[in-house]
Amino acid sequence: MAEDETLFERIIGGEIPADVVYQDEATFAFRDIRPQARVHVLVVPRKRYRNLGELAAADPQLLADVALSARKVAEIEGVLESGYRVVFNTDGDAGQTVFHVHAHVLGGEPLGLFGA
Ligand code: ADP
Repeated sequence: MAEDETLFERIIGGEIPADVVYQDEATFAFRDIRPQARVHVLVVPRKRYRNLGELAAADPQLLADVALSARKVAEIEGVLESGYRVVFNTDGDAGQTVFHVHAHVLGGEPLGLFGA
């Protein structure tokens, strides 16, 4: 493993098992190991950027790909009609722990407005 490889690169590479929900050329989606809602799936671009801002600045098409994969995940998980939330945490106060940008796709139950 490359020394600076992130957890998510190891998951995408198959070194760490994951419950894969959807994948395509640009993105990889799998269930969060500590779900915060009935549906909690992470959508990760295969190419690594540190956070949402860096991804948007460097590769807006890839950001769009992540958004479309989030919608695809919602469809697969049966929450397109009931609604879902997409969250990108960035740095300390937001609690980002994996510095490979990822969208949390949450749903399957009514979600609190913005949890602390
Ligand atoms: P936080 O850890 O505060 O949620 P992030 O936004 O960086 O911060 O999210 C990383 C997410 O990765 C967490 O929700 C965590 O539960 C999840 N996670 C960590 N390890 C794994 C794993 N092996 N498989 C699936 N999800 C994982």
